[in-house]
Amino acid sequence: MSIIDAHCHLANLADITALEPLLDEAEAKGITRFVSSALRKSEVAWHLQHPDSRIIFSAGIHPNFDECDLDMKDLKKLCDEKSIWAIGEIGLDNGNPEIAVQRKEFVQQLELAADYRLPVVLHIVGHQEEAYKTLKQYPLPYLVHGYAGSTEGFLQLKRLEAVFSISSRILKEEKLDLLTAMLNHKRILFETDITQYYVHEGESNPLLRLIDVVEKCSALSGISVPRLLGMQAVSARFLWAKN
Ligand SMILES: [Zn+2]
Repeated sequence: MSIIDAHCHLANLADITALEPLLDEAEAKGITRFVSSALRKSEVAWHLQHPDSRIIFSAGIHPNFDECDLDMKDLKKLCDEKSIWAIGEIGLDNGNPEIAVQRKEFVQQLELAADYRLPVVLHIVGHQEEAYKTLKQYPLPYLVHGYAGSTEGFLQLKRLEAVFSISSRILKEEKLDLLTAMLNHKRILFETDITQYYVHEGESNPLLRLIDVVEKCSALSGISVPRLLGMQAVSARFLWAKN
């Protein structure tokens, strides 16, 4: 078994715990690759100081995370140095009323990704229609992380031929329509989206939650774990073939 955590915030988690033993334990249980998202200057620095063959990372200006202090200059430097596999997570979020700023930063970062031919990790909460119209103009490889909006919104975003990473947010009965639509699309990965803010009291290794995500997805959908991991492997090749 080889599972990829397609969206996590390892540098953010490293603020509160030593990661090495957690990564080793996760790897021993079959979680072999971590796709980390850096949203603060300190997180980028952590990743640069802790190279690990199991980890790749992206960086971006998040639409709704106050502590995000990255700017376009930081991102350009990371692109020039070839340190990041993708720009992101970026997008639109209706939890932040400053839509004009979000729009501007979203487009600037898509332009940057296009200039450097990099994939983009998307965070889309609300504003699906607008996001789709913008993204259509940038034919890039997309990884839509943690999408939990309407099924109609998904069906639109899926026209981008994006890969969607499944989080626990849609592993419930009331989201079964969306989960089914995503699994029919077949371009799927799995994620924990783990940060230091999501760790439960007394939880020894939150990275292992990825195994629960896959098992719960299997139980809800009726698709076996090996078949789900087969879809994951094909999706991973689609997204990372050129990297
Ligand atoms: Zn995230």
